[in-house]
Amino acid sequence: MTRAPLTAQDCGLFSCHVCGLLSKGVKGSGESRCPRCSAPLHFRKPNSVSRSLALLIAAYIMYIPANLLPIMKTGSMFGAQDDTIMSGVVYLWHSGSWDLALVVFIASILVPLLKLIALTLLLVSVHFRSTWLPLQRTKLYRIVELIGRWSMLDIYVVTILAALVQVGSLATITAGPAALAFGAVVVLTMFAAMAFDPRLIWDPLKKARTEHD
Ligand SMILES: [Zn+2]
Repeated sequence: MTRAPLTAQDCGLFSCHVCGLLSKGVKGSGESRCPRCSAPLHFRKPNSVSRSLALLIAAYIMYIPANLLPIMKTGSMFGAQDDTIMSGVVYLWHSGSWDLALVVFIASILVPLLKLIALTLLLVSVHFRSTWLPLQRTKLYRIVELIGRWSMLDIYVVTILAALVQVGSLATITAGPAALAFGAVVVLTMFAAMAFDPRLIWDPLKKARTEHD
């Protein structure tokens, strides 16, 4: 069994959440502060799991209206039509644009759902202090953080469509209430990923190794 690497926490050193400086901290009134930027110092992000969980639950709740309410309202002289994300995908599929249907399905339904599941897995495993596949879980966290900024695709599709159609045409396209809910899911999962402290994945592993030694 290889020895667990020494962490800053073992040496009593804090890593500043704001400027990244590794220090013992300056004792102020109550909590330690960063000697460089005087931000409050903590070994791990405070209440990381509960804050991340609260944001994740809110994202799960918003995922329901994002998929059930219309994302796009189309109006023309032939009548008005409301489309949810899924009915939009089905419409695109049947009208022959199967590639676009696939992109919208992956970006708007599959990726947000996989992100919610990945964050749930990370939070549950950290809560139960699991030592299961820490490297893979850290990689999963990195992927979740990376795709956060790329998941607004659906909103772009609606905005581009609205701009294209409304220029010199009798038809109108407006974003439906689901667009707001969809945006909320994206923002909430991004905040949930930010609130999560990936170092918590490795902490129980160290304890397990120390006990083994
Ligand atoms: Zn600092």
